[in-house]
Amino acid sequence: MKSIKSPILLMALGLGLQMQAQDYSSVPPKESPMPMKPEMTEIWEPEVKVVTPGKQLGDAPSDAIILFDGSNLDHWVSQKDPSKPAPWKIVNNDHMEVVPGSGGISTKMKFGDCQLHVEFSAPDKVESESQGRGNSGVFLQNRYELQVLDSYNNRTYRNGQAGSIYKDHAPLVNAMRSPLEWNTYDVIYRAPRFKEDGTIDTKATITVLHNGVLVQNNVDINGTTFYIGLHNYPEAHGDDVISLQDHGNKTQFKNIWLRKL
Ligand code: MG
Repeated sequence: MKSIKSPILLMALGLGLQMQAQDYSSVPPKESPMPMKPEMTEIWEPEVKVVTPGKQLGDAPSDAIILFDGSNLDHWVSQKDPSKPAPWKIVNNDHMEVVPGSGGISTKMKFGDCQLHVEFSAPDKVESESQGRGNSGVFLQNRYELQVLDSYNNRTYRNGQAGSIYKDHAPLVNAMRSPLEWNTYDVIYRAPRFKEDGTIDTKATITVLHNGVLVQNNVDINGTTFYIGLHNYPEAHGDDVISLQDHGNKTQFKNIWLRKL
C-alpha cells in the first residue's frame, strides 16, 4: 500500500477522524456573548394601528374604502367611456345587476396592492351552460381576471370556472353556492413590479378565498388575461382601476370593499 505523504491530506484525514469521534452529548452549550432577557426580543414601536373589524365576517372594517354598499354606483363608471356613469342597475337598494350589452364597469379610483371583498350571485334563472352561465369577472388593475361564473353543477374548462384566474390558474376546489345564494370572494392581491425598461420584475400574486374556502394560494399571475393566447406582461403599469365584466349575463354584485395594502 502506498504511503500518504501530503501533510495537508494527513491533516484533513486526522480532522475527519476527530470529527467522527466527537461525542456532542458531553459538549456544554456555548455561552452567548450577552445573556438574553425576554425584553430583548420584544418590539414596542411603532404601535400597531387599530382597525375596528366589521360586525360580522364579510362586513367592511373601519379602514376599508366602500366601493359599493347597495345604494348607488357613485364609485363606478362605464368601462367603455369612463366619462359616463356606470350603466348597471341597482336592485332593491341591495345589489347591482349587470345590464347585458351595456359593457363593463370600473372603479373611479385606481389601486395596486389590496385586500378586496366582493359578493356575487349568479342570475336566479339558470340559463345556458359552461361559460354562458352567470359569467362575469373581477379584473384587478383592469387586466387580471378573477373569474365569476355560475359553477354550481356546471362543467367548463377547469381554468375558466369560478375562482379561477381566467385561463391561468384553476381554483383548488369548487366552492360555488347555488344561484339563489350569495357567494363571497376575499382576495389578497399584490401588484406586479416592473423593471425600468418596462419588462416584468416580479409577477402579481393573488390569494383568493371563495365562501371562506381557499381557492388560490398565493399564486403568480402570469400576465394580462387574454381569451386567446398565452398570458404575458406586455407593458409596465402602475395602479389601475378594478373592473367588473359584462359577459351578457345578469350576474349580481353587492358589498364590495377594499383595503389598500
Ligand atoms: Mg368572465
